[in-house]
Amino acid sequence: MPEATPFPAEYTAVLTGAGSKRGIGRATADRLAREGWAVAVMDINGENAKAVAQEIAEAYGVKTIGVGADVSDQSAVNAAVDEVEAGMPPVVGLVNLAGISSPTTFMDETAEGWDRVFAINMRGTFLVTQRVLRGMIDRQLGRIVSISSISAERGGGTYSKVAYSASKAAIIGFTRALAREMGVHNISVNAVAPGPIDTDIMGGTLTGERKAEMSAGTMLGRVGQPEEVAALIAFLLSPDAGYITAATYDINGGLQVS
Ligand code: NAD
Repeated sequence: MPEATPFPAEYTAVLTGAGSKRGIGRATADRLAREGWAVAVMDINGENAKAVAQEIAEAYGVKTIGVGADVSDQSAVNAAVDEVEAGMPPVVGLVNLAGISSPTTFMDETAEGWDRVFAINMRGTFLVTQRVLRGMIDRQLGRIVSISSISAERGGGTYSKVAYSASKAAIIGFTRALAREMGVHNISVNAVAPGPIDTDIMGGTLTGERKAEMSAGTMLGRVGQPEEVAALIAFLLSPDAGYITAATYDINGGLQVS
């Protein structure tokens, strides 16, 4: 029977889209650092990525690095991961959070708009994952989590429309098929599908009125906090989660059955 490879003494998590101050990625970076992970922040906004990395290093005393890269650009992704691998402990975790929303209704959607959503939400996940996997396969150890959305399951209904829902549904198929190929390498691949979370992605900071609107269908009567999603992601990256793979975790206050 194959044995699970133990975690090394020091290990890094790469987080894409962790540059925005009020985002799920930033909350996850904090959470993982608190749990002792070295953290690599990758974001299209390189200045933000570096600032987050510095703040986290100061707050938790772990190794960090901030790198600027557009996840849909293969050479930028390769250069960014090269830099992470050169300066940081082995990469054990990858969290694909970089994403954009799209409130365009279907009959107004353009091919360019459609391609942009897929380029960042899906192609970006493919490019970063494939590049990071090289080292994980060499070491026979890895934990990959990609962010889908309740929008994939319910067909929108929060803010974003068809292109976004389709790109986030693609993340679920990607996760399951990749998990099938990576199991033999002791690499788990999972997805997390949040409901409405209090970040700025849905057209800016949520007002009280919008929060109330988005909470209406949830059983808990509120939107979620980035820290709550971060806790779930951190568990799926942890040594304890080694037997969980090809799963999609709902985190939406019960919205999935309402
Ligand atoms: P956010 O806007 O705070 O974070 C998104 C981050 O991605 C930003 O830092 C942005 O700079 C970065 N980014 C955008 N395009 C990029 C690119 N091409 N390359 C690299 N980085 C890029 O939003 P968030 O709510 O924290 O979203 C994080 C993830 O969670 C997204 O994939 C989003 O679709 C998903 N999600 C969010 C919610 C929600 O309600 N907030 C619900 C379900 C899923």
